[in-house]
Amino acid sequence: MRLLPTLLLLASATLGFAADGAVPAKDPNAGVVTDPAACETWTTENGTKYHTKDCANAKIKTTLAQSLSEGDEPCKQCQPPVYDAAKVVVFASENGGKYHLFSCRFAKKQTTLAQAVKDGLAPCAVCKAPALWTKPAAPATAPAAK
Ligand SMILES: [Zn+2]
Ligand SMILES: [Zn+2]
Repeated sequence: MRLLPTLLLLASATLGFAADGAVPAKDPNAGVVTDPAACETWTTENGTKYHTKDCANAKIKTTLAQSLSEGDEPCKQCQPPVYDAAKVVVFASENGGKYHLFSCRFAKKQTTLAQAVKDGLAPCAVCKAPALWTKPAAPATAPAAK
């Protein structure tokens, strides 16, 4: 059992999280999509998948927000970025109704974007914490149910 503490330490170091839930020194969201509107994806004209730039199927440049709005699924071959608010790390302040980036002086308690919004917190305007992106309601093209 002597290996266990070392492994736990390694695991938390790899994830970039402080073991005690304190605010880490470097961005815990490196490689994580925090804003789908700022994330580049590529699609085809009639496809139902979205791609990375280097995929053979990549034809039209768009954003992840647009791809998700259209209901496109990530390509299984090129594995483009996906958006999961439960994976975006933000930080609650000690009190008050805002959540923050790791670099904000008000950042205190680690949580996730999904959880912060569920808790009724709003993004901090000072550190420009990401807002929760949700798929816009589909336009009313389907015939209304009787
Ligand atoms: Zn692809
Ligand atoms: Zn802040």
